[in-house]
Amino acid sequence: MTDVLIRAEGLSVGFQLGGGLFRKDILQAVNNVSVTIEKGSFFGLVGESGSGKTTLGRALLKAVPITEGHARYNDGEVDVDIASLEGPALKDYRKRAQLIFQDPYAALSPRMTVRDIIAEPLEVMKLTKTREETDARVREIAAKCRLNLEHLRRFPHAFSGGQRQRISIARALVSGPQFIVADESVAALDVSIQADVLNLLKQIQADMGLTFMFISHDLSVVAHTCDHVAVMYLGRLVETAPTRKLFAGPRHPYTKALFSAIPSLDPDDRGKAQKLTGEIPSPTNQPPGCKFHTRCPNAIDRCKSEEPQLEGDGSGHEVACHRWKELMELTPA
Ligand code: SF4
Repeated sequence: MTDVLIRAEGLSVGFQLGGGLFRKDILQAVNNVSVTIEKGSFFGLVGESGSGKTTLGRALLKAVPITEGHARYNDGEVDVDIASLEGPALKDYRKRAQLIFQDPYAALSPRMTVRDIIAEPLEVMKLTKTREETDARVREIAAKCRLNLEHLRRFPHAFSGGQRQRISIARALVSGPQFIVADESVAALDVSIQADVLNLLKQIQADMGLTFMFISHDLSVVAHTCDHVAVMYLGRLVETAPTRKLFAGPRHPYTKALFSAIPSLDPDDRGKAQKLTGEIPSPTNQPPGCKFHTRCPNAIDRCKSEEPQLEGDGSGHEVACHRWKELMELTPA
């Protein structure tokens, strides 16, 4: 049986808007999400901007408060409820769960050398006792991220985007985490560099036995990286499946639209794309029923009043759509 590193159940994140006494608007960024992330896996989280994927990733890092539900983290050494972490237990969790930022240009202080940038978490968390110990750990992690001693003496401006992202990765790894949230970590890079950074992440995962949550708006990037994919729309999971199954037969109309956004090399396919029209609704003003009904070409009256729940077929493939079976029969994958 596979070990589970993170199990979230009914997890919600809401932010109160406005400072007035009588303002009660809630921005419901994540709504009743249940998700299981197996130890040593590369878990992909996909959706448009505004879908809540970044907030879900940050909630699992306890970087934003979980307002409802539970998320359990168990790496074999510690078994904790992320939502209720505080004090020394939260400090300990910071070592174990780390974030790789999207923008390697904004994430690195221009005034610090690469050595100091990578060493900072060790010093802040007091994980090493001497400078020699810190330097040895920095060199060890830098080498894993293909950075040499000469690189450690330089400042971030001397590096390309791909090299800067490798510095960000080294900084995230230096505390010895088990769980890494990589939030759009290749989105700011040229396509030719993306593959290099993705290969590095896969290599590190294999070598160090880490668990990744890989957040992306781009299904084509997820295809080559992740073992399992969850698709989010307006704070909810709408489809989740092993990557192979999802790519062989997406079931939710939103997932299908995301697939259509992947550029095809086949000129005959280009005209068939089912384009997403309209914009994702505001989380402060969510439509009733299925949250996707305002943009779904398959919506019927039921979709406007009744919210579909995730349902599985026993194979690990789950979808939240009233019509998925019927639609699959009409247009088989
Ligand atoms: Fe479309 Fe209805 Fe399915 Fe929602 S439930 S995705 S509106 S068909």
